Amino acid sequence: MLAECFEVIDLRFHALIFENVFIEKLWTGARWTEGPCYVPAGRYVLFSDIPNDRVLRFDELSGAVSLFADRCGFQNGRTMDRQGRIISCEHGGRRVSRIEHDGNIAELCAAFDGKKLNSPNDVVVKSDGSIWFTDPTYGIDSDYEGHAAKSEIGASYVYRIDPLDGKTTAVVMDFAKPNGLAFNGDESSLYISDTGLSHDPDGPHHIRAFDLSADGKSLQSKGEVFATCDAGVFDGFRFDRDGNIWASAGDGVHCYAPDGCLLGKILIPEAVSNVEFGGPKRNRLYICATQSLYSVYLRTNGANPTMSPDAS
Ligand code: MG
Repeated sequence: MLAECFEVIDLRFHALIFENVFIEKLWTGARWTEGPCYVPAGRYVLFSDIPNDRVLRFDELSGAVSLFADRCGFQNGRTMDRQGRIISCEHGGRRVSRIEHDGNIAELCAAFDGKKLNSPNDVVVKSDGSIWFTDPTYGIDSDYEGHAAKSEIGASYVYRIDPLDGKTTAVVMDFAKPNGLAFNGDESSLYISDTGLSHDPDGPHHIRAFDLSADGKSLQSKGEVFATCDAGVFDGFRFDRDGNIWASAGDGVHCYAPDGCLLGKILIPEAVSNVEFGGPKRNRLYICATQSLYSVYLRTNGANPTMSPDAS
């Protein structure tokens, strides 16, 4: 019998889940969890507790959660680059930063066009080493998740940091609150969520899909709406190996087929902010949900961004 934590909307969802697998609540005690990032070499998951200005580490072997960093710039989303370095979005620092192999923190971007960024929210690295991130205002809207301040840019853009010269360019400028983002498997498209509903009852609560330009450095399409959230907003999301999107939502995790069809949901008792595939086989979905960290094993594997498609 199918566990109650799964809601099947399209029969294709059955091929992605196990009927006898349940949600595991791994830890609770945060104010707002975000930014899950799996580190395969250490078999741990880093995740943010933004209002408490700390980063926590879930050890996959022992099950223990410990402090990884605190007073570290109210970090939100993070990812790992191809060299295994952690790249983080800092609300408080209003910048994107990277932990170097020697432990030093490198600032990758803090301004655009001579103006301070708002509060970088989520980040992804393309195979060419370019870093793409969103910059809504959640970290400067109040003192709860950062430091209250006025937006110097006056809008919320999506940016690309060039891997060669470090120059930052705006690649999308027509979002209300750009939030989570991810490339599809062959990096032909970039998907970006807009959580503008948080500030406007008529605001967007969808994911848009953009085609990349031939040189892979900019976006050439207008960004069709791929899916609209029927329970709150999509914050962060990840692709699996087959091109399905696993997206956070108010009632759990929503799974969409590449054609935009909602296949099913993983129901979680707290609003979900972000997800990450982990485990040695990348078949364990880690779920940051409000105060807690959950996980569930799936019958699919994450599209592993640190490996070539042939090796995953
Ligand atoms: Mg986010």
